[in-house]
Amino acid sequence: MALPGRITDPGPSPSATDHVHSNLKSLGESATLAIHERSAALIHEGRRVYRIGFGQSPFPVPDRIVEALRRHAPRKEYLPVRGLAELREAVAEHHRRLDGIDGSADDVLIGPGSKELIFLLQLVFRGDVLIPSPSWVSYAPQARILGRQPRPVPTTFEDGWKVDPDRLAQACADGGPYLLILNYPNNPVGNTYSADELAAIAGVARRHGILILADEIYGRLNFSGEHRSIARAYPEGTIVSSGLSKWCGAGGWRLGTFLFPPRLSSLRDAMGAVASETFTAASAPIQYAGVEAFSGGDDIENYLRCSRRVLGALGRRSAQILKNAGVRVNLPEGGFYLFPDFTPFAARLAERGIHDSPTLCERLIAETGVASLPGLPFGRPREELTARLSFVDFAGGRALEEQQDLAPDAELPADFLDRCCGDVIQAMELIVDWLQ
Ligand code: PLP
Repeated sequence: MALPGRITDPGPSPSATDHVHSNLKSLGESATLAIHERSAALIHEGRRVYRIGFGQSPFPVPDRIVEALRRHAPRKEYLPVRGLAELREAVAEHHRRLDGIDGSADDVLIGPGSKELIFLLQLVFRGDVLIPSPSWVSYAPQARILGRQPRPVPTTFEDGWKVDPDRLAQACADGGPYLLILNYPNNPVGNTYSADELAAIAGVARRHGILILADEIYGRLNFSGEHRSIARAYPEGTIVSSGLSKWCGAGGWRLGTFLFPPRLSSLRDAMGAVASETFTAASAPIQYAGVEAFSGGDDIENYLRCSRRVLGALGRRSAQILKNAGVRVNLPEGGFYLFPDFTPFAARLAERGIHDSPTLCERLIAETGVASLPGLPFGRPREELTARLSFVDFAGGRALEEQQDLAPDAELPADFLDRCCGDVIQAMELIVDWLQ
């Protein structure tokens, strides 16, 4: 019996993990954020680190948009759950003007980053989620948080890591409904799709009743300047995802957008209902600044042209350095990523005790200071010697300024990349030396 005034023994204390939902027990921090912190820790120790692990735009947010944010800093009211009306109109108009998609403000949903919107879509969608392998690191963990078992759609290096229509059809042989997450220009492989390839995927989607979440957040960073949305080929079944994080350099502002076809308004409304019970609305000043960003203008066109010019040239040069050394890698077509496969060096790496992608990347950063991400969190087999490199470790502001006097269609001067993006090139050369 307990004595008065004494605290009774509550019994063995439950371990911390007992409080965690079973869906989350094996979930760690996002791999991309983890490499960011690992790099910061090495720098803190005084080590030289080549930051090509974390995929963040190197470019400053265009002045006019920063100015709009400044002007709207006093906006403190809660905005409508689906987003500020003027912003939704500007987003719809942006997709009409640049992608030829015929949507209206009513079809747009705004959120605090497209990552959150993708999560909400996976939450409200009834059916199976199809995720190409490799894919951006967060799609599959988001599915697992929700207790889903995502279905992989395999792709190969030989096919340019592209979703093949026949394989897509095979992945959804048992009825559906399905949601395919298709991302291009792609993180991690840097590829994109032609109009014919998109039409073939759209054909399979239509036949099998697959909805497509077209994650086109890197669309404006297609190096050719001619991104083509799959919504053109499959308007009735495509939700287009975008935001300010990549083309506008404003990842930390947290603004994401979805454009729905009118016939999927029930998904939009379900996501809006969950948003109203969770994040409420994206931040007001950011949404006002977003109106300026999505409305476009000559300065923004010029900013994008200069961004694409340097990313395109740097991506191709970086890939070429690796290719010349015998690494399997495709030349990127948009965005800021390469996905090299070091399998041709497997025997040599095995002699050094490297048999899988996490060890490959850990040893690379420890021995050279080059930060990268292993293929594993992108959905590749652990033993496959793939890694993702982001060619963004350069001063973006300077790289834009140095193009001020260039004609719109001029090439970069021959010494531009060595002058403005030397660390990225050095990182590629360090990788090559380390492999030999
Ligand atoms: N989709 C892809 C392919 C990405 O690479 C990222 C960010 O890295 C996102 C979505 C999420 O972007 P945000 O939440 O900043 O809009």
